[in-house]
Amino acid sequence: MFHMPSFSHYTIPEVISALNAQCYAKLILGASFRDTLLIEHLCRAYARSGVQVIDMAADSQVLETVLRSFESIAEETGSREDFPALMISLDVDGDPHFRHIVLDEPACIDCGACVPVCPTEVFSLSVAEHVPTSSLHMVSSRCYGCNQCIPVCPTEALSLQPVAQPSSMLTTLLAYPAIQLVELHTEHLDLSALQEMLHVLGPGLKNKLLSLCWRPVSEEALLTEKQQEAQYLHTFDHWVKTYNDYGVWMVQIDGIPMGGAGYREVHAERVQTSQERLAWYAALSVATRYQWAAPSQALWQWLTLSGGVTPETALFYKASPQNTVLTVHGAGMGSIAKKLIQPALQADCSPTLKQHLYHKAISAIKPFLIS
Ligand code: SF4
Ligand code: SF4
Repeated sequence: MFHMPSFSHYTIPEVISALNAQCYAKLILGASFRDTLLIEHLCRAYARSGVQVIDMAADSQVLETVLRSFESIAEETGSREDFPALMISLDVDGDPHFRHIVLDEPACIDCGACVPVCPTEVFSLSVAEHVPTSSLHMVSSRCYGCNQCIPVCPTEALSLQPVAQPSSMLTTLLAYPAIQLVELHTEHLDLSALQEMLHVLGPGLKNKLLSLCWRPVSEEALLTEKQQEAQYLHTFDHWVKTYNDYGVWMVQIDGIPMGGAGYREVHAERVQTSQERLAWYAALSVATRYQWAAPSQALWQWLTLSGGVTPETALFYKASPQNTVLTVHGAGMGSIAKKLIQPALQADCSPTLKQHLYHKAISAIKPFLIS
């Protein structure tokens, strides 16, 4: 492992204050996103924007890249204070965020259909000299598993493979004090997988502020699956209250998983989707409380949103009536955050334009920070 440079990060009490004030803002790099160039740009653009947390893949190279970008910011500004707290994401039971694109080269006919649909420009068609046809080039480290390219491929040359997270590597990462938050992602609310993870990694999770991330199912499914969900949430809540230093946790509802860039500028739909998710959350909350707890008790302390989040999402939930069920305490921005600064990666992007894009990124965070 590498030498950890030291910075003054947002502390957990500061993160909790932001949650309580509905001003929690997180930059999501992506649970399987390992493109070091873009990670450096994202950190440069957003580390000084006011986000309290940067959420990254549980990967030592990614951690090294994030800290290297902090180091260069510190050299420029002369300050090592007020850097975001770091969060890593763990896969409990096969969440699709933990996938990477794989190309079956012989099956690819270089048609280019996948090129425009990828939000992070994984694919490009390159034309070699003296060759009449172009061929597909792929930078797979940029892939964050959104699945938008798979349906457009006419020859089924693309597939998504799970990203492995060996427990020995996770234990090493969890030992770093700079990693203060951990998000557990669940796809199937698989109780035995959760119990196994807590058994193996429990000691490392003890002093972290925990978030549980899952995607809403339809309301019809909710009616049949609520028992399973309630049991899962109750087990997690019991573990946190018994073994975790903070004894409270946040939930992150994944609205349109990895959907922000796919829907780009359709802000009205974003807001409507958030409303639907909140309605779903309210139903789940009622169901959960009915099953397991007195009406005045909530299992989780804070509700946060991700998946299709844009600055307009913040405007929407801050305008929502405050009550114990629907209060949204903050959000994580991933796809849109990447999209905003993507042009800075172009070879012909001038330093002035780069600065302009970084300022645009900072403006995008502002709605989340205003109470
Ligand atoms: S479209 Fe999505 S799944 Fe396909 S390569 Fe791009 S990021 Fe990965
Ligand atoms: S869509 Fe499929 S066949 Fe076409 S270039 Fe992409 S991977 Fe190759």
